[in-house]
Amino acid sequence: MTDRIDTDLAIIGGGGAGVAAALEAHAAGARVVLLEQHDALGGTAATSGGGCFIVGTPLQESQGIRDTPDLAFEDWIAWGGGAVDEVWARYYIEHTLHDLYFWAEKHGVRWMDLKFQEGNRVLRWHRPDGNGFGLMKALVDSLHSSRAADVLTGARADALVTEHGQVWGVRAVVDERAVEIRSKAVLVATGGFNSNLEMVLEAKPALKAARVMEGSGRGATGSGHKLIRELGGYFTHMDEIWFYVYATPDYLDPTGRRGLVFRGTPGYIWVNQQGRRFHDESLTGGASASPALFRQDPAHAWAILDTPMTASMEVADPYYRRAGEVRRDKVQELLDNSPFIKKASALDELARKIDVDVRTFLGEVQRYNQAFEAGLAREPALGKSLQLSKPFDTPPFYAIQLFPLARKNFGGVKTDLRCRVLNRHFEPIPGLYAAGEVAGMAGGHINGKAGLEGTMLGPAIFSGRVAGGWAAHEAGFGPGFIGRANRQE
Ligand SMILES: Cc1cc2nc3c(=O)[nH]c(=O)nc-3n(C[C@H](O)[C@H](O)[C@H](O)COP(=O)(O)OP(=O)(O)OC[C@H]3O[C@@H](n4cnc5c(N)ncnc54)[C@H](O)[C@@H]3O)c2cc1C
Repeated sequence: MTDRIDTDLAIIGGGGAGVAAALEAHAAGARVVLLEQHDALGGTAATSGGGCFIVGTPLQESQGIRDTPDLAFEDWIAWGGGAVDEVWARYYIEHTLHDLYFWAEKHGVRWMDLKFQEGNRVLRWHRPDGNGFGLMKALVDSLHSSRAADVLTGARADALVTEHGQVWGVRAVVDERAVEIRSKAVLVATGGFNSNLEMVLEAKPALKAARVMEGSGRGATGSGHKLIRELGGYFTHMDEIWFYVYATPDYLDPTGRRGLVFRGTPGYIWVNQQGRRFHDESLTGGASASPALFRQDPAHAWAILDTPMTASMEVADPYYRRAGEVRRDKVQELLDNSPFIKKASALDELARKIDVDVRTFLGEVQRYNQAFEAGLAREPALGKSLQLSKPFDTPPFYAIQLFPLARKNFGGVKTDLRCRVLNRHFEPIPGLYAAGEVAGMAGGHINGKAGLEGTMLGPAIFSGRVAGGWAAHEAGFGPGFIGRANRQE
């Protein structure tokens, strides 16, 4: 027995893109059913740092930062390694002020501060109150209070339904019951695939020789990619995966596949399996640190810390946080119990425990410590700024094993500027829309080969709005997404 629900728009996925799309389609007057496989809305977006790349904001102005869409576009293109979807990048950048910053404020989001990110000439990474959790809580609260959608949680979409090439619905399992949602359009907002190692290795077969870890949100398993692929959607730039280096295996994960990103440890150094430093550890970005790690043989490393350096360590996983706060007891539990973390009361003992050449390792640490004795601002070997660091002098010492972690998908299904899914002839598949990470954050490959940061969640939310507006329009509601550009002309 299959239950049937009739609506105007069915949205699959209740993360950043899906929730934004529901708000937009509702504002246009459409009835919306929002399906989320987990028992709460939020997706990866709710566990994210929440930082969004936004241009020309009051927050920037309050700090004397003059930023323009032209400046931001130049940085974006330079950073994207020749692979940026320039039209989508321009579209996003010009709309960030009104259609992301002010729009989010209208829904209760508070923009708190700015952070520098590699590749940007000015500060543009805007952090919301409560990070990704706070941002999504505000949007989800707004969705519920405005009754923008009928929300089905515990609802996993398994198939798209078509007739004569037109997509008109979704088949899902909701709390073990089969449900068919009939709608005039369907929007896929299911996120990325970096929590599906098979898909990561299929997209980047060269990595089969190395150990890489799954590292996106738990729902980012590529299920929406499969639904779209079955209907002939065209995927592009699938091998552009953003890896992070500062991640260690999650020893509590029975599959042994997931990784944990940790931050707040700027004092550390990294050594390879030969015991040598190989990179300025203050440059942790996916365009600098990850290629450096992949060049090591084998492609893993050890982060070396002394005890005071662990005091501010944060682990980006819900188990290590409560209501946005770091749980220090859990962080210490990780340091004490992970088989991928070694601890010793002396540095030579630590070197033996991680099986690196003791003399090489001790030489690296000694040279690093000498830079402090000499009062240098940067250590001479790799030029790392010592401003946030200290000498290695307080045992116990720790070595945390690092493997590359797949975090964000820069490729996905190709869409037009209305977020209509395109087939291999670059024609829209009638009734089918995609937004967010399943669409490479927006349009297929808005970032290119590298992201300026904040360029994942921001475009996911923005493209969700665009898709929601145009899908509602196709269903007979509203003029489509118009928005307001911020142009200096
Ligand atoms: C730890 C972490 C920190 C990050 N920090 C930042 C940051 O600070 N700034 C930034 O720009 N980006 C950041 N990102 C990336 C960013 O969070 C994602 O790119 C963004 O959330 C993508 O939004 P989305 O809506 O496309 O997907 P998601 O937010 O992942 O939402 C997709 C939803 O779809 C659901 N779903 C999937 N398949 C189905 C199905 N078949 N049926 C029903 N539901 C389904 C999932 O359960 C999920 O809830 C971070 C990522 C991680 C992992």
